[in-house]
Amino acid sequence: MKLNRYFKYSEFEKGLDQILNRSKNHSWQKSVIGKSVLGKSIYGLKFGSGNNHVLIWSQMHGNESTSTRALIRLLDSDFFHQFEQNLELYIIPVLNPDGCDFWTRNNANNVDLNRDAIDLSQPESKILRTAIDDFQPDFCLNLHDQRTIYGNDSGTLPAQFSFLAPAGDAEKTISGARLKAMSLINSIAGAINLESAYVGRYGDDFNINCIGDYCMSRGIPIVLFEGGHAGQDYDREEAAQLYENALKIALTKLSNDLKLQSRDEIVDGYNEIPSIAQTYTDILLKQVSDARGSRQDLAIMYREVIDGDRLWFIPVITDIDQEQIKNAHRVLDAAHLSFEELDLLIEECGVVQSTSFSIRSFYK
Ligand SMILES: [Zn+2]
Repeated sequence: MKLNRYFKYSEFEKGLDQILNRSKNHSWQKSVIGKSVLGKSIYGLKFGSGNNHVLIWSQMHGNESTSTRALIRLLDSDFFHQFEQNLELYIIPVLNPDGCDFWTRNNANNVDLNRDAIDLSQPESKILRTAIDDFQPDFCLNLHDQRTIYGNDSGTLPAQFSFLAPAGDAEKTISGARLKAMSLINSIAGAINLESAYVGRYGDDFNINCIGDYCMSRGIPIVLFEGGHAGQDYDREEAAQLYENALKIALTKLSNDLKLQSRDEIVDGYNEIPSIAQTYTDILLKQVSDARGSRQDLAIMYREVIDGDRLWFIPVITDIDQEQIKNAHRVLDAAHLSFEELDLLIEECGVVQSTSFSIRSFYK
């Protein structure tokens, strides 16, 4: 069972049923734990009888599907079976089914579910809160994808995976729960080997309406996973494989009880993970010359648009902030190319499906 980066929620539902109907998966319990704004069923999957409760949710942002794809692959394999005795798992594989279909970050009421942890204005947020209250997790994994804009400060490498051990208060106190989250992140970051990318660390500014900060404020260890982008992996196949590996490392660690190093070792290790910065764009055109011959660099970002059952990447040109954008997933030397030659080059990379793209129009 394989899901592409964009899939309809009904496709996911069908695939999930097929997987859970296999005899080896009969110990999973699937239930409808609530409905989305537009009335779609949201599922909870339970497995195992261990004392260690791990709650995992994916795709609370509808256009972040990589973790769902990784979870489906793991469910389709024998991976979880080893944890039957020492973990109890509760997985919400898609928390935002309406956003999944529309390919939007927000839910059908245009609310960011990761800014609704206290307000609980949306049915999906209430479903997640109920899961937390009833299941009483010892650890939470909050699974997301990040956009293509993230790299390290210097712009030499893209961030292909990032993590955060969120703060539980405005002082960013390093509580026991936070130490556990940092320790798990250190383990994963240390085990993921990336060739032309790096593992990044998100900023920890406190916002109680973010679910991670909320959990941490209640003393529940939680790790934010952010699957990232490198190279031309726009279908996020590499990213899904990395996600699978990261989840395997995380669950194996959690099933063995986190062996805590000293507080200083954990915090130092965590802080050594380079922070992420918005240093990347999709395509960087170097030295484009306008009609008067003056040259400038231009940045192209893809806008992701669903048409029918397909995800399209529409290139959008912007002036670039030289201070901020330092690199791109594709850099083109435009110094000796006409606008039309550049248009062709941009379409050539196989990601772009636009027939209306024109550098010339940027200068009009
Ligand atoms: Zn997200």
